[in-house]
Amino acid sequence: MEKKEQLYEGKAKKVFATENPDYVIVSYKDDATAFNGLKKGTIAGKGVINNKMSNLMMKMLEKKGIPTHFVEELDDRNTVVKKVQIVPLEVIIRNVAAGSFSKKYGVPEGTILANPTIEFSYKNDELGDPLLNTYHALALRLATKEEIDTITNMAFAVNDAMKAFFKELNIDLIDFKLEFGRYKGQIVLADEISPDTCRFWEAGSWDTTKHVSLDKDRFRRDLGGVEDAYAEIFKRIGLN
Ligand code: UDP
Repeated sequence: MEKKEQLYEGKAKKVFATENPDYVIVSYKDDATAFNGLKKGTIAGKGVINNKMSNLMMKMLEKKGIPTHFVEELDDRNTVVKKVQIVPLEVIIRNVAAGSFSKKYGVPEGTILANPTIEFSYKNDELGDPLLNTYHALALRLATKEEIDTITNMAFAVNDAMKAFFKELNIDLIDFKLEFGRYKGQIVLADEISPDTCRFWEAGSWDTTKHVSLDKDRFRRDLGGVEDAYAEIFKRIGLN
């Protein structure tokens, strides 16, 4: 399958049309942004890692019965995916307090939550992706009740599968962001699953304030060793 015209360029990926109207090609870049685009940089080799890791995760989740947009990996940076209509919600699942959750609710980072949580943000850069609840999402016609129920069930199923997968690799899955799309009347998991969109901590390191991040927090917080952290995750999941 070949790239035709570019349909879209985002912060970390480009999307191209293909000869098949049902499919697009996603092309992963090394560009990194944080804080809604305020912080910009590059993480050498990130595009390759995020492409291959996302595809591995999507294939693993498909095997667990979760429908995804994945079709075929073309090469290191390019993947054919189903052309979905993205539901404009960022879906965040948390197992351990970190980041904006810790700040907002005054809970130290690393606090294990009594149960996994789900939250939705309105995917809208101009508004800074504001947090909203399901009533807001329905009121704004961002999704139907059935879609929100499906997304919620799928997101927790993804959490169960991913937590188990990373536990084997001595990595704690702290939190992550998912996006979903509509494809031929069905909700499918879309976008990416990578160190850009997940917090991965070295196992057990959450019980101290000195947890070891193997994810984009190394870039966001200027912790150094950004490329090494991405490479370490890539190695642990068996891709390098
Ligand atoms: N996240 C993301 N994209 C966003 C916001 C968050 O992928 O635009 C991911 C982030 O990597 C983390 C989780 O969602 O794994 C929770 O992020 P949080 O709300 O704590 O926001 P942050 O502290 O990163 O601003």
